[in-house]
Amino acid sequence: MPELPEVETVRRGLVTALGLGLRPTGGEELDGSSLPRVEEWHFCRETLRYPLPIDRLRALEGRRLLAVERRSKYLLLYFGTAPSVWGESALAHVTARVLIHLGMTGVLRVLRQVPELAKHDHLWLRLGTENRDFYLLYNDVRRFGFWDIQAWEELSGEEAQFSRTGPEPIPLEVYREQAPLSLALSLAISGTSSRPALPGDGLAGHLYRASRKVGRELKSWLLEGKAVCGVGNIYCSESLWLAGLSPYRKAHSLAESEAGDLAVAVQQTISAAIKAGGTTLKDFRSTDGKPGYFRQELKAYGRAGEPCLRANCTGRIERKMQAQRATFCCPICQN
Ligand SMILES: [Zn+2]
Repeated sequence: MPELPEVETVRRGLVTALGLGLRPTGGEELDGSSLPRVEEWHFCRETLRYPLPIDRLRALEGRRLLAVERRSKYLLLYFGTAPSVWGESALAHVTARVLIHLGMTGVLRVLRQVPELAKHDHLWLRLGTENRDFYLLYNDVRRFGFWDIQAWEELSGEEAQFSRTGPEPIPLEVYREQAPLSLALSLAISGTSSRPALPGDGLAGHLYRASRKVGRELKSWLLEGKAVCGVGNIYCSESLWLAGLSPYRKAHSLAESEAGDLAVAVQQTISAAIKAGGTTLKDFRSTDGKPGYFRQELKAYGRAGEPCLRANCTGRIERKMQAQRATFCCPICQN
């Protein structure tokens, strides 16, 4: 199922395809009419995992898409009125946020013409700019994905949606070098909602302190997403292999240096996976229909019975079930 790197890949695809990433820096004059405007929705069904908020989505017609963000495995689309100046003031123009979860098999594509609907295409949205139209088409074979919409005023103050979600493994700003408006929004949003920042000593110090009283196994603790978000099953196995840590260790047994190794491994794994456009095991596709290529770089996940790739290790990767999920690890070098 799509995890953080896959959702980030989709986010980047949307930003690029819709031209949201090439904006002037804060404070400059802006022609807001260049932002894509919601023109039309088309729904083929009323329910995915939950009922689609069809009337509230249709009410967005005429609004502009201001930014495409991500938090953990959720895509966040900010809609509102066109700002005339970039920067923090753009936040005042947000009227609603559409939250999309891709579930297990959700694929969001950007097309340049009216989609010829195929099986499992459930809805599309037409966005118009001055000189061209874009169609966002949502396909979901298993229909575990969902779309929700929240009015901006509902989101001010404490945000329930992400109150139990841990910090991002990599600070969001790192992803935002090409999208000043998104960055301005991200920073403004981070001050108002539950988007915890990492402490001064970064992910390493955070993981060390957060694990002190945790008696559960390392992998279960990471998968839960409260200590750090977005480390799903594939990337958890990969990160623990890279750090040389056993998934079965008790979290509180981590030494400070091991928590440091784990932090580096998580960040390297997630970064490399984003760079490769995510991992496609079966269904995942980016907005241009391309699969992710991180599968070719997997060191542990999916390699049961194959030789461990760590230099000088003679072990073979084992696959075991751990809390109903497949865990891949090397019994020799992961301790
Ligand atoms: Zn090994």
